Amino acid sequence: MAQSYDPNNVFARILRGEIPNDTVLETPHTLVFRDITPKAPVHLLAIPKGAYMTVDEFYARASDAEILDFIRAVARVCEMTGLSASVGGNGFRAISNAGADGMQEVPHFHLHILGGRPMGALVETA
Ligand code: AMP
Repeated sequence: MAQSYDPNNVFARILRGEIPNDTVLETPHTLVFRDITPKAPVHLLAIPKGAYMTVDEFYARASDAEILDFIRAVARVCEMTGLSASVGGNGFRAISNAGADGMQEVPHFHLHILGGRPMGALVETA
């Protein structure tokens, strides 16, 4: 059965200002903030302000303006934090977990941007 968006998920509450966050960049359609439990020296979360649960839902249903704003915001924070090769950085990993098999914990689409050290294998092979 298809799930519906939970308006009380933690990122929705951050967007409503009910929970504090460590903002790196805010644009008209996007918020980028630091993960509360960082898994790397730089661990950012980029989220659209719209109510989208997963990366594929965002890509399928968001407006062109939302998608372009999100993509450009990600590019900007990769530069701002020094991760981007365009500013001499060593690179990063950008991943999005979706649904149960993706081990997604927060049901509001988010892109993890991880860097500041080699990120290791992409997934466990078990
Ligand atoms: P995922 O497993 O892909 O859904 O990742 C959810 C991420 O959200 C985890 O890396 C958490 O550490 C992070 N997270 C949960 N609550 C907060 C919060 N209040 N502020 C910032 N990051 C959070």
